[in-house]
Amino acid sequence: MLISLVSSGYFLYQYFKFLPYYNSTVSQVFGSMLGIYCWISVNALLTGLYDVSGSIVVILVGSPFVVWMIKYLRNMRRDWLMYTPIDSFATDIDCLNQIMTFQEWIHESQKNYGSQDTEIRIKGFINQHMLECESLECVCARIGELYDNQTDSYL
Ligand SMILES: [Zn+2]
Repeated sequence: MLISLVSSGYFLYQYFKFLPYYNSTVSQVFGSMLGIYCWISVNALLTGLYDVSGSIVVILVGSPFVVWMIKYLRNMRRDWLMYTPIDSFATDIDCLNQIMTFQEWIHESQKNYGSQDTEIRIKGFINQHMLECESLECVCARIGELYDNQTDSYL
C-alpha cells in the first residue's frame, strides 16, 4: 500500500511537471484520475494503519475536492509557465505547454468574442514578449507590418 501511495505521488509529480495531453479536457480527466488514485492510496494506507471504518464514504466525499484541487493546481502550473520567459525553460515540453496554453487563450477569446479577460491576458503576454525580445528576426521587431488599416487594429 505504501508502494501504491509512493507511485501515485510520483505519477502526480510527473503529471504536473510535463502536463501531458494537449487537449484540456483529456488532460484534466487524466489528472483527476491520478489524483483520485492517490487519494484512494492515502485512504487505504490510513485504513491499514488505524483500522478506521467508513473509508469508502470518505473516498467518495473527498473525490470532488480532489478533482477541484487538481484543476486548481493545473491552472496554477500553467499560469506559472505563462509568466516564465521562454529562455528560462529547462525543457522543450515546458515551452510546448506555453504555446499550447497561449493557443487555448486565443481560441477562448474567439469563442467568447468581446471577453476582455482573455483579450487582456493575450495582449499582456505579447507586450511582455516585446519588452524582452531581442531578436531582430522576430516578427515583433516589425510590428508596423502587423497593423491592419481596415480594422484599425493590430493583427
Ligand atoms: Zn519577438
